[in-house]
Amino acid sequence: MKKYKYIIIGGGTTAGYAAKEFAEQNIGNGELCIISAEDILPMNRPPLSKNYLKDENEDDELLINGKEFYDDHGITVLTETYAKSVKFAEKIVELDRGEALQYEKLLIATGSQVKHANISNENLKNIFYLRNVNQSDEIRKRAKEAQNAVIVGGGYIGTETSAVLNQLGVQVTMIVPEDKLLSKFATDEISDFFIRKFRKEMVEVLLGEEAVSFHGKDSVTEVELLSGKRLPTDMVIIGTGVQPNIKLFKDSTLTINHGIVVNEFCETNVPDVFAAGDVVEFPDRIFNKIRHVEHWENAFDQGRHAAQVMTGKYEPYIFVPFFFSDVFDVSYEYYGDSESANDIVYRGSLQSGDFSAWWLNNDRLLAALIMSTRPKKEGELAAKWIRNKAKVEKEKIYNTAEELKELELN
Ligand SMILES: Cc1cc2nc3c(=O)[nH]c(=O)nc-3n(C[C@H](O)[C@H](O)[C@H](O)COP(=O)(O)OP(=O)(O)OC[C@H]3O[C@@H](n4cnc5c(N)ncnc54)[C@H](O)[C@@H]3O)c2cc1C
Repeated sequence: MKKYKYIIIGGGTTAGYAAKEFAEQNIGNGELCIISAEDILPMNRPPLSKNYLKDENEDDELLINGKEFYDDHGITVLTETYAKSVKFAEKIVELDRGEALQYEKLLIATGSQVKHANISNENLKNIFYLRNVNQSDEIRKRAKEAQNAVIVGGGYIGTETSAVLNQLGVQVTMIVPEDKLLSKFATDEISDFFIRKFRKEMVEVLLGEEAVSFHGKDSVTEVELLSGKRLPTDMVIIGTGVQPNIKLFKDSTLTINHGIVVNEFCETNVPDVFAAGDVVEFPDRIFNKIRHVEHWENAFDQGRHAAQVMTGKYEPYIFVPFFFSDVFDVSYEYYGDSESANDIVYRGSLQSGDFSAWWLNNDRLLAALIMSTRPKKEGELAAKWIRNKAKVEKEKIYNTAEELKELELN
């Protein structure tokens, strides 16, 4: 049986950055193997709903490491290969192709899978989910032929794909079950800004609506809504969220709640088994709660962190929740967690879109949304204040005339 010092199950973003870190920690040739269900090397997914979806030539940010990187460091990547089962007691991973591999230390990085929306006739042609590069290619190809599209969901996949399809010349209708866009973080004012933006670009946004059924003979031709309305369409994208990809471990001794439970060292309850990225929940030392993240920054950071711990650098993982998104010419970054906020302060102008939003609980900053037009310093300060649990005076945030450097706290 083939033996590796380190095995990673999953070949996504976490795996790609973990591999980079393993190489930086100077692991030996032939010590690391990545088992990946995909037909592409570990990649960054954000471009799949942004630049790459618009234009297949915009592919230079897709791969985390080129093929030469894996060759140079003697890292084996088994693509189009599923880990079928793991025998923790014997430290063995069984592959779908019949082979078995032995590890000393295992990193689970199986990520997320899409949540199916429970809409009838979902199997009709030209109804898409978006998680991998092939789906992004198929959506682009269809969008080039389509006149109109229905996007189900008003989260980041829904908003980003609506914007791209609109830019490709497709007439887009976005169906949003909530009463606002980006409801996971947006206040009414922020949602209104984005709705105005989409409507200005001629994207129809239907709030408080749900898709209940798709119609068509072979390919989708109509979407039926809860209100009874029927929308003719040439294609549909469903963006209704994701869930941790834990099915491989359902009947194992691994502790799993919503995701695989790890401590601040990415350790699971099973000796020498680590996990990181979208698939885990971990103790958040800044907000003192158990956190599950489905965003790139955590996959990047925690993948590297797990590799450091596994190669002997034993430090706790401290992470300021963070994600970014782009729609049309607007990019934004979100830091922290506004869940227990009791106040919000805006800087700049919500009308023009040049604004930032700062969520507070009394004098502690919990979260901030920073539009890309804002001074870079705002994002840096937000991250720093959240991480340090700094005392922040609301009036200072209010005072937009004040130089940002004067906002700096000791
Ligand atoms: C279209 C799209 C756009 C995004 N845009 C943004 C963005 O703008 N900003 C942001 O912050 N985040 C964004 N994200 C989220 C971000 O990409 C994820 O958080 C990140 O990919 C998580 O990395 P991961 O490695 O944990 O999981 P994944 O990248 O999902 O990788 C998991 C891998 O494990 C494989 N796998 C699972 N089970 C097995 C098995 N049994 N055997 C072998 N392989 C297996 C899967 O096939 C997959 O390749 C986006 C995601 C998508 C899909």
